[in-house]
Amino acid sequence: MKPKTDSIYFKGIIHNRSDSNDLLFNPGDLVIVKRGIERLIILRCPCGCGDDLLINLDKRAGKASRLYSKFKSYTLYPSYWRDNGCHSHFILWDNKIYWFGRDIESNECIAVSKQIENKILEVLKEDEFTHYLDLADECGLDPWECLQACKQISKKGLCKAKKGKYKEYFKKTNPKSRKSSFKSE
Ligand SMILES: [Zn+2]
Repeated sequence: MKPKTDSIYFKGIIHNRSDSNDLLFNPGDLVIVKRGIERLIILRCPCGCGDDLLINLDKRAGKASRLYSKFKSYTLYPSYWRDNGCHSHFILWDNKIYWFGRDIESNECIAVSKQIENKILEVLKEDEFTHYLDLADECGLDPWECLQACKQISKKGLCKAKKGKYKEYFKKTNPKSRKSSFKSE
């Protein structure tokens, strides 16, 4: 076992899966397999178990994750949950790993800017709930920053989450009932 890491380390784009053997050494090392389009992520498990996680990006090959990249920073959606072996469960957001059971529940995520909050407030509807992924697409944001922004504005009483186990749908609070809805949160 190597120590657990909280970051990923981008090691390059490769054409064949087997080329990853020469590039992945430490927990968090990551390559993207690209042939025409991005096909697959190979990530040396950040938990330190030494296994390589294969994350499909190609919709034609079945259930696929979305990879967002900006300025050499990578974000993956949805969260990754390994159903065997080490059972790693984490979010990859801006090259950082946020672990379920440690970071996520305790809200140890990066606060996002007021600018992002405002972008979302502009498109949030008052009369129906919208999933944060749809809001993210509409605003050109990645899903995690969008979800974080929704949580932040919900704390301020400006929007509210649909009741349920997972707070994934949000709508704008009616300004007239804002005070009372804030109390009931
Ligand atoms: Zn692992």
